[in-house]
Amino acid sequence: MKNCIFCKIIEKTLPAKIIFENKDFLAFHDINPKARFHVLVVPKKHISSLESLKKEDREVIGQVFFVIQKIAKKLRLNKKGYKIAINVGKKAGQLVDHLHFHFLAGWKTKHQLENQKIP
Ligand code: 5GP
Ligand code: ZN
Repeated sequence: MKNCIFCKIIEKTLPAKIIFENKDFLAFHDINPKARFHVLVVPKKHISSLESLKKEDREVIGQVFFVIQKIAKKLRLNKKGYKIAINVGKKAGQLVDHLHFHFLAGWKTKHQLENQKIP
C-alpha cells in the first residue's frame, strides 16, 4: 500500500531493526519503545486495522500467536512473560493504519517506579 510506513518497512524501502521474518509476517523493534522490549509484529498483507480483517485472512492471522512465541523465545522472554496489545482505531491510539501487534516486556514494576530517585 502506497504511503504506508509498515508496507515500506516490509518492502525494505524503509529501514527497521528486524528480528523475525517469514512468508507472512515481519517483526521489528518499535522506533519509540514504550518498554525495554517493544517489538511490532506485522502481517505482510496490508490490512488497515483489526476492524478490516476478513474471513479470508483467518488462517494467516491465526499464525501470529506462533510468531509471537518464536519472538519470545528469541528474546528469552518466554518464561519471564510479556504483553501483547492491539490498538484499534484512532481513538484507541492507532497511529499506523496497518494492523500490528505490540509485543512489550521489561517495563518497570510498580515497586521500582515508587522507589526511583527523581533527579
Ligand atoms: P499504534 O499507535 O498505531 O498502535 O502503533 C504504531 C507504532 O509504530 C508506535 O509505537 C510507533 O512508535 C511505531 N512506529 C511509527 N513509525 C515507525 C517507524 O518508522 N519505524 C518503526 N520501527 N516504528 C515506527
Ligand atoms: Zn501497509
